[in-house]
Amino acid sequence: MGRTTPTLKFRSGPDGIHLFNRITGLNLLLDEIRAPATSWSVAPRQVSVALTNLCDLSCAYCYAPKHRARLDSARLCRWLDELDAEGCLGIGFGGGEPTLHPELPDLCRYAAENTGLAVTFTTHGQRLDMRLAADLKGQVHFVRISMDGVGDTYELLRGRPFRSLLSRFEIVRQLAPFGINFVVNDRTFPDLDAAITLASEVGAVEFLLIPEQPVRGRGGIDRHTAAALQRWVSVYRGPIPLSVTEAGADRMPTCNPMPGEKGLRAYAHIDASGVLKRSSYEDAGVPIGTDGVIAAIQVLESTDGDER
Ligand code: SF4
Repeated sequence: MGRTTPTLKFRSGPDGIHLFNRITGLNLLLDEIRAPATSWSVAPRQVSVALTNLCDLSCAYCYAPKHRARLDSARLCRWLDELDAEGCLGIGFGGGEPTLHPELPDLCRYAAENTGLAVTFTTHGQRLDMRLAADLKGQVHFVRISMDGVGDTYELLRGRPFRSLLSRFEIVRQLAPFGINFVVNDRTFPDLDAAITLASEVGAVEFLLIPEQPVRGRGGIDRHTAAALQRWVSVYRGPIPLSVTEAGADRMPTCNPMPGEKGLRAYAHIDASGVLKRSSYEDAGVPIGTDGVIAAIQVLESTDGDER
């Protein structure tokens, strides 16, 4: 039987006391209360976890490692317990394609019932059917659907029929609040306005811009497109709130309410081999051993020699 979790989760850090409700998404920062550094939460605020490297698509700009790897569920549940107890607020499952991990529903259920973590997962959406959605219903607080471009652009980049993705939105809307993840490059940028309109029509509540990062010989978003994206964001008045990945946020008009929570204090990534990293784009990291995920964070912190 799962434990009862409080409505508001508590986290202490350099910017004050952070209260969070995973059901409503409410974030409350009491910045007039400055707790001593010795009482700050040790875990990152948010942790992403690649459940598997496996994926049935082959997008050219994919940053997931291509060797076979899949996380063991029992191991992962111990890390979730630890992260939860040390003040982490949310866990984001990804991959590869997380719906190809046979225990995705069990892992989400474990996190929802036994921890106070907000549970999200990022998917290409093409495998999301009524049966999987029924297994996940009530165990997931937010879903991220990858949609880079619309129509022909999507089909060219993802190699799947766009109408097939469109048919999944009603399923995901019944499952949980959801957002759109949009990799921005010279091919997808012209589709941004159409993608925002579509996202609004299908009920998305957030639109995450992911300026393409350099991986495997690709150069990432080019300077011309990056500048055009900055101009587009600066005049954006659309119906859905925008957010942007930290790796692509340079020169974007962003707002960070917690500037003191940097690096591993804000975010960490666990890859499908069980290696803790500063982000999913990094090659280097620290394997998580039997002493757990917080110990690995401390080793990574000391290895890099910088402050959190
Ligand atoms: S769907 Fe995601 S994980 Fe799969 S190949 Fe494309 S970018 Fe990589």
